[in-house]
Amino acid sequence: MKHYDVIIIGGGAAGFFAAINCVEQNPNLNICILEKNKEGLQKVKISGGGRCNVTHAEFIPQELVHNYPRGEKELLGPFHQFMTGDTIEWFDKRGVALKIEEDGRMFPVTDSSQTIIDCFLNEAQKLQIDVLYSQNVQDIEILEAQEVFQIKTKDTNFQCEKLLVATGSSVKFWKLISQLGHTIVQPVPSLFTFNINDKRIKNIPGVVAQDVEVNILKTDLSSQGPLLITHWGMSAPAILKLSAYGAVELAKMDYKFQIEINFIKQDFESCLDHLKAIKHDFGKKLVYKLPQFELPKRLWQQLVLASGMTQDTRWADVNKQELDSLTEQLTQAVFDVNGKSTFKDEFVTAGGIDLKEVNFKTFESKRVPNLYFAGEVLNIDAITGGFNFQNAWTGAFIAAKTIAKKSPL
Ligand SMILES: Cc1cc2nc3c(=O)[nH]c(=O)nc-3n(C[C@H](O)[C@H](O)[C@H](O)COP(=O)(O)OP(=O)(O)OC[C@H]3O[C@@H](n4cnc5c(N)ncnc54)[C@H](O)[C@@H]3O)c2cc1C
Repeated sequence: MKHYDVIIIGGGAAGFFAAINCVEQNPNLNICILEKNKEGLQKVKISGGGRCNVTHAEFIPQELVHNYPRGEKELLGPFHQFMTGDTIEWFDKRGVALKIEEDGRMFPVTDSSQTIIDCFLNEAQKLQIDVLYSQNVQDIEILEAQEVFQIKTKDTNFQCEKLLVATGSSVKFWKLISQLGHTIVQPVPSLFTFNINDKRIKNIPGVVAQDVEVNILKTDLSSQGPLLITHWGMSAPAILKLSAYGAVELAKMDYKFQIEINFIKQDFESCLDHLKAIKHDFGKKLVYKLPQFELPKRLWQQLVLASGMTQDTRWADVNKQELDSLTEQLTQAVFDVNGKSTFKDEFVTAGGIDLKEVNFKTFESKRVPNLYFAGEVLNIDAITGGFNFQNAWTGAFIAAKTIAKKSPL
């Protein structure tokens, strides 16, 4: 039997961040991380396409919370304790400089997730945190008389006074936690791309429309932003945001639904007026070769063909029906979505520990004293952009601070 003051289950982003902060704030604490794999931080490694999108340059808590389809209300208080600026400072103090990209995403200046991993591993070693690998936790028991948790892996028993669970999106572990009296909100994937098999986009993968509006028909779900045509369908923030906000609803629809895209974010009438003016002014030119509304040329061409015109149609020859049809393609194009694909740069699970059962001032369980949660194990997830890690850093920091304070110095 091995005894620790604090045990952290899960050697991922939240687990390492919590362990380091805990010992820094209370060096007397004897802490270990139990990680089931041979190495920890595997998601950090592959995150952000190998660059690790550590956080997002949003410095107002009230604004930052808007990026969390689940957790928006609960994270407001925690972000007043620890958020973006604190994350930047935390890494900076440990020699890791972060940079901001045009869209607000923040990465290490090295553009390598290994920088973050090295930082955590070095800090853990310096602070003498026991990181025990190949320790798959299979059982947790609360020994009430001794006020300890008993944790079992395949061949070792551990005991601790304070337990932090940072196991990410593990269905097996959620079952264990439910046995401790917690409710688990059914997990479903979030942050995925839409599969669309449609002639209009079949041959133009890689094309980006900079700012579109997308609505999912028969729902209230809509979003705006860049849209990328892929080999299988559509991706980029306009789609990924819908996949996050609609995670539960779209799962119920078995990922079969229709979307309506306004490629130019103008209403039907103003678009039609613009096209009529072009027809009047440029009658001799080919429609196919004269893209409008700053749309990518190849996308414009596909929409022109879909409107019943050919490559040789001149503006002067466009009839009313074709003008209406092109306007419809530009402002109300309907596509059938049939299934989803993984967005390789970032994906998360919606669902997890019911937020009503957690005290967000401390990240302690309301059901089991001295039990804490941080990261994706909670029913919190965000849109793409570094917000998911920010949730891990914030929860881990606050849980660590609480544990450090509550334990004798
Ligand atoms: C491909 C990909 C790219 C991503 N990129 C980004 C990004 O750039 N920016 C961003 O903000 N978010 C990103 N995310 C999301 C982000 O990685 C997660 O939100 C974050 O890792 C959650 O941290 P966590 O510590 O809660 O969980 P994890 O990082 O998943 O860590 C959980 C750990 O617990 C361990 N564990 C599980 N069960 C047990 C058990 N029974 N016993 C012992 N150990 C156990 C696991 O092995 C794992 O190491 C990405 C996700 C993916 C999949």
